[in-house]
Parts: sequence; C-alpha cells; structure tokens
Amino acid sequence: MEKYGEVIVDIPSQAVDRPFHYLIPPGLQSSLQPGHRVIVPFGAQKVVGYVMKIVDDCPVDQVKPILRVLDEEPLLTREMVDLALWLADHTYSRLADTLRCLLPPGIHIKSEKYVELAQVNAAELIDELKERAPKQWAILSYLEAAGGEALWDDIRKGVQCQGAAINALAEKGYVAVKHRWTSPAVRTKRVPFCRLNVTQEAAIEWIEANSRRAPKQAELVRCLLEMGQHLAASALAAKAGTTLSTVRALEEKGLIKRYWQEVYRDPYGKGAAVSGPLTPNPAQKEALAAIIRALDQKAKAVFLLRGVTGSGKTEVYLQAMARALERGKQAIVLVPEISLTPQTVRRFKSRFGQRVAVLHSALSAGERFDEWRRIRSGDADIVVGARSAVFAPFTRLGLIVIDEEHEQSYKQEEMPRYHARDVAMWRADRHGAVVILGSATPSVESAYLAEAGVYRQLLLPDRIETRPLPPVEIVDMRAELKRGNRTILSHKLRHAIRERLGKKEQMIILLNRRGYATCVLCRECGHVLQCTNCRVTLTYHEPDQSVRCHYCGWQMALPRLCPECRSDLLRRFGVGTQRVEEALLREFPGARVLRMDLDTTRRKGAHGAILSTFERGDADILLGTQMIAKGLDFPNVTLVGVITADTALNIPDFRAGERTFQLLTQVAGRAGRGDKGGEVIIQTYTPEHYSIQAAGAHDYPAFYREELAFRREMDYPPYTFLARVLVSGPVEREVIDTAQEAAEVLRTQIGALEAETDDVKAFGPSPAPLSLVRSRYRWHIVLKGKEAAVRKCLDGFVSHPQPYPCSVSVDAAPCALL
Ligand code: ADP
Ligand code: ZN
Ligand code: ZN
Repeated sequence: MEKYGEVIVDIPSQAVDRPFHYLIPPGLQSSLQPGHRVIVPFGAQKVVGYVMKIVDDCPVDQVKPILRVLDEEPLLTREMVDLALWLADHTYSRLADTLRCLLPPGIHIKSEKYVELAQVNAAELIDELKERAPKQWAILSYLEAAGGEALWDDIRKGVQCQGAAINALAEKGYVAVKHRWTSPAVRTKRVPFCRLNVTQEAAIEWIEANSRRAPKQAELVRCLLEMGQHLAASALAAKAGTTLSTVRALEEKGLIKRYWQEVYRDPYGKGAAVSGPLTPNPAQKEALAAIIRALDQKAKAVFLLRGVTGSGKTEVYLQAMARALERGKQAIVLVPEISLTPQTVRRFKSRFGQRVAVLHSALSAGERFDEWRRIRSGDADIVVGARSAVFAPFTRLGLIVIDEEHEQSYKQEEMPRYHARDVAMWRADRHGAVVILGSATPSVESAYLAEAGVYRQLLLPDRIETRPLPPVEIVDMRAELKRGNRTILSHKLRHAIRERLGKKEQMIILLNRRGYATCVLCRECGHVLQCTNCRVTLTYHEPDQSVRCHYCGWQMALPRLCPECRSDLLRRFGVGTQRVEEALLREFPGARVLRMDLDTTRRKGAHGAILSTFERGDADILLGTQMIAKGLDFPNVTLVGVITADTALNIPDFRAGERTFQLLTQVAGRAGRGDKGGEVIIQTYTPEHYSIQAAGAHDYPAFYREELAFRREMDYPPYTFLARVLVSGPVEREVIDTAQEAAEVLRTQIGALEAETDDVKAFGPSPAPLSLVRSRYRWHIVLKGKEAAVRKCLDGFVSHPQPYPCSVSVDAAPCALL
C-alpha cells in the first residue's frame, strides 16, 4: 500500500504554510517517522521539509516522492511534532516559524550513524579474528587506524563490506553502533582518551613485573584498570600523579592505546563546589510534601509557590528536582534571562553537577549545540534556561519550574507569540508532570487561578532565619515641593544616604529611566522634541549632548534653537539615571557611584563587571534601572531608594499597576539581606495609589484585591480573554484602511458566532498607544470575551484570505497593549 508524508517545507511564507503530500518511496516506508527531516522537490527547487504525519491517503493526484531523509533519527521527537502543531494553532503562527523555535537556533543539524570500537578489545582478540572472519577483522583494523571510531558509511566504503558485518561485530560486543547529532557549522571538541591495549590479565602481569623499574608507568596502568579502562588522557595522568609523557611511553610499549574522543564543552567549567540539600523549614517541608505527592500521582498538577525573596523557594525547587530525578524523571527550570547569572547556574550545578544543561542567549553556538545534544540524547536530566528552554526535548519530563513566573520576558513578542507558561502546561499534560510557578509577586492571572482552585497554592510566609522584611517609608514628593525642595532627593532620602556613607554601608538607588532628561520642551511654543521615526519624546543624553529615541535608537545633537519657532528657549525636563548620578556626585563628593542601565551595559561582560565591583565593596551606591531590581543578593546593602515610583505607573497599559507593584516589591527586597537590617525609601507623586501602598506594606493580598477590582471594573483579564490584531506599515493611509477592513472581517466573524454576540466584543480600530515606531504606523483592534469564542473569531479571521498591503499580526493574550 502506498504511504504519504505530510510535509511542512522550510520556507518562511504564509502561502506555503500548510502540509504538502509526498509519496514515501518503498525503501523508506519502514524507517520514516514523523519528526524526520527530508529533502523534497518543491517547484523547481529541492527544499528541506519536516514530516509531520504519515497517512494512507493523498488528496491530490500528482504526487512527488520524498527524495532523501536527512537524519538517521528523527530530529523532532513525537512530542515536539505535536507541540509544534498545537503551538502554531494556539498562537496563530506559521508552522515553519514554530518548528524553528523548537530547534537550537542558527545551526544546521544532522544526525549521523557511527561505529565505535569497544574499549575492551585487546590486540590478541583482534588478531584471532583475522583468519576466521577477515571482513570483520578488516573493519576493526579500519577503526583502529581511524583512531577508534568512524562513520558507518565510511567503513562500508572503506572496507567494502555489508552492514551485516558491522552488526555482527556489534552483537559480539567488539564495536558499538551509535547515533549522534552534528553540525557542519560547529566544530566538535575532541580530547585524547586512553584504553588498555592488552587483556586485563596481561596488564596485571605487566604491573607486577614493572612496578619497581617503572613505578609511574605501573601506577598509570593500575589507575586505568581500576577506573574503567577508559579515561581522558589528562585526567588519567593527573589521577596517577604523572604527566602525559608517561601516557606516551606506555603507548609506545603497546600497553595502552590513545584515541580521540568527542567531549562536550562546558561553559561553566568543572569544579563547582558540591552542595547537599538543606534541612527544610516547616513551610518548605509542607510545600515539598505536596509537590512530592503530586510527583507520585503522575498526573499533571500545577502549584503556585508564593514566597518573598529569600524565603527559600529555590531550595524547594532543588529538592523537588532531586525527587523527580530519583523517580527517573527529568526537570526543566525556567528563570528570566537577566537572572541567568553564573551565580544562579552555580547553585544548580553544585547540587546536580554534570546532569545540568544550561541554555541561554549568551552561549556560543558550539556551547549551545553541545547542551542541546546532551538534552536530546538524555545525557542531561536537568535544564536551566531562559524562555525557550521550555522546549527542551526531554522524553521523561517530570517537573517544570517557572521562577519569577510573573516576568514579562516569558512571553515571546515575535512569531510564534507564545507564553512559556502555556507551553509548560501543555507539556505537563502530555507527560503527567508537575509544574511549579514561583514568585514573590505572582501575576494576577495566576493568583486568580490559584484562588479558584485550578492551581494549588503554596506559601512560604517568611524569610529564612526570619530576617524581617525591611521597613518602607513612602515620601510624598508633592509635599516636598511645597516645602521648597525642588531637587531630586527628598530630605529623608538625602539624610539616609549620608548616614550610610558614614557607616560604609552600601545602597541601591532605582530610577526606571535611563538618559539625563526625559524630554526637551520649548518654553516659547510648547513644542516637544520627538523622534521622526516614532511618536515618542526624545531623551536627552548628557555625555555627548545628544537626544535619542529609546525605541529605534535614532539620535541627533541637541539643537540650539527650537525647530518649530526658532526660539532659544529649549529646556530639558524629567529625570533620568544620568541626572541622578550627577546629583549624587554633586551632593556627596567622594561617594563611589556605579551606574547600571542599558547605556553602561551594552558591552559584553559589562553587566557582570559592574556587579562584581559592587559586590567587592568597591562602590557605595549602585544606581540603575529595573535591571538592578532582580535577583541580586548583597548582604551589605542596608538602604534602597526609589527616585520616582510613578514612572511605571504612568505607562498607558492595563498592567501598569501590576508592573509597578512588582518592581517596587522586588527592589525593596534587595535591602536588609544581611545581619545589619535595612530600610527602603520610595519617593512618589501618587502616594495614595494602591500599588505603591501595598508594596510599602509588603502586602501582596492587598494589592491583589485592589488590582482585581480594577480589572473587573474595566473588563480586563482574568475577567475576560484579551486578544489584539495589530496592523502596521510604513504608509499611514494603508494602515488605517487595512485596520478597518480587518475590523470588518472580525465583526463578521463575531456575527457568525452561534453563541450570544455578548461573548465577544471588538474595540477599534484605533491607533495603538505607540502609534508610530521605527517609521511604521500602528493601529489595532482589541477583542475581549470568553476565550473559546474569541479564539473562534480569530480562527475564522486567520483562515480568511488576507490580501492586505500591511502586516497584520494576531496576539492572543498579549502582555501589554502598547
Ligand atoms: P528564594 O529563592 O525564595 O529567594 P532561596 O532558596 O534562595 O530563596 O533561599 C534564600 C537563602 O536561604 C539562600 O542563601 C539559601 O541557601 C538559604 N536557605 C534556603 N532554605 C534554607 C533552609 N531550609 N535552611 C537554611 N538555609 C536555607
Ligand atoms: Zn518653540
Ligand atoms: Zn524612534
């Protein structure tokens, strides 16, 4: 019977984003599986494609055959194939884009079949084959000459043998047939290994005969015997207390054999200190007990673990992971990219050693490829990584941890627009795995689901060793102004900084705006300098006296005259980190200030360098944007100051309150982590806002209640499912026309819903709050309603032909509506 493969071709175009049918040639019928990469004819070209399904029927008559299979093993596991299909559907994305997301980026991967000489073959045994099975002997000799391993196809060509001869050797244990993933773009790393070249008995005899005359050599052979007879040459020499010259001497005598073997690059090096589990405190114990019960039930379970910073969440993750591993399962830990510091990674490595693979964007292509191979082959059981690590192709997944689950970086803002949390839920369903969402400030959506009983709530109410959370003082800057203080620092904060400087304690000062002044305004005509590519105000940067756009990077020298009215009354308003730095240096001459924002951390390694300077105590004040708010642990920090809490609050988005609360809570958590205690001073122009009040009182439940009331009143998530269709393009008229057409199609879809029309409402089209970015105009249509109904409209919308001149993208459950 004929069989067909449904193949997605790897061409990024909407028009070909559906499966095409190809005939599976008889020779491939037994081996081809979903997930295999193949070469197929496509028009006049030959292209790479992915087999998604194998079917018995073909809806078209003229069907071409699959030309070639690229890999021995399917590149994608069955689960990954299904995940790609689901994800493309769920996020309204192209399948080719979605597939690319599941593979290590920027690398052309290939699976190859190779043959490795077993490590126990002694020369005598090999010689014995020479007469009896000359082909097999020739294969072993070929492998010997090749240094211990060779590609399957090379051997067959080199020795002129059938595959059966190699398989026969494998059955007898002389060789092992293996698969591995390689890439022409990445060099594999090889180091010399050693093995015995004589039988064990012969080796023991030799040691006895030579231990006096050549003690170093004898010791080395003894180590090799003892330690599995198969070791990296350098490790062996070190173990025996000798050098590589001893290895070479023994090789010349024919006692051992040296060969080259591939090793994985380890970006974090060995030598991480080993650490065992800590004795859990009662709250940790209770949380762990619930998680372990769920692991044993082998059914999906989701926990929301809420605990302030320093309450021991990570320790709970570590112990839960250990339990999952004991049960033969694998674990994924997601952390925000920015907190993937060596410090975090070391914590996991010191507990689980080489079983940990690490994935993040700063790895070299080779390192990333090696980590991916370790995961795919099952050599690693734990992955620690940023968002895309959620796709780690484990086959025995038992636990997924998402730390700081509220972080916006878990949502990808390009196709496929997925949220790592949703992917985690899907995979947990598939594997019957446990998900732990951890945060000090859970997203409102997750807290809502926990309250509704969909997630199970776990609480770590106190910091370890019950160090108190630092007291927070909220300073009303309007009152400060009335008292005649027009400077950046309130009396309170100024006084507190001076006191800390006197006591040689350290401080963290947050202002979530970089640059010097946040806008330049003409006092004559009121004109505000704006980016010509984006409809946003330009930020003044002091070092080169330029004005810059923080959205597109455009910049120019600060003009002397107003471009509108030619007056010379251009004035700079608003405060950025550069201006705070200047003020601190003026006010406290001699204070050592480190500024950390996008401008000072562009260079690779700059981020780490600033932090270690601060950690060493070589600076008094760490001043920066939100990038200083997360994950840092400096025991000598006793004061945290926030220059203006309102920056995040004034962003025109429904999550502004949530973001503000999270940012303030996080930065406040940086104070008082040591024995000296600490305090937090928050300056604001809206002290009465609940986000600021609740952050000041370390009161998550209070924030949650107020925020929920606001969301209900304004009909935002979790009370509604939100989606938006964003239209963008370089010609404003076209963007508006397209947005109007799209809105009409959407409204038709809503009208066609069988359910009450009440289920979905469409708003717009209207200009997005960021109505022009990088010379592209942006309009959007917002949908609100029940998730199933909204998705039905969107399904209808994307399957409708879209001959639009502008780009039209769908974002279901966007993180922000900017
Ligand atoms: P979180 O992840 O909530 O910020 P951590 O797990 O990092 O908290 O714990 C904070 C600190 O307390 C760490 O230094 C950790 O080693 C320590 N710690 C955690 N649990 C315990 C425990 N049960 N006993 C002693 N120290 C602990
Ligand atoms: Zn003017
Ligand atoms: Zn711009």
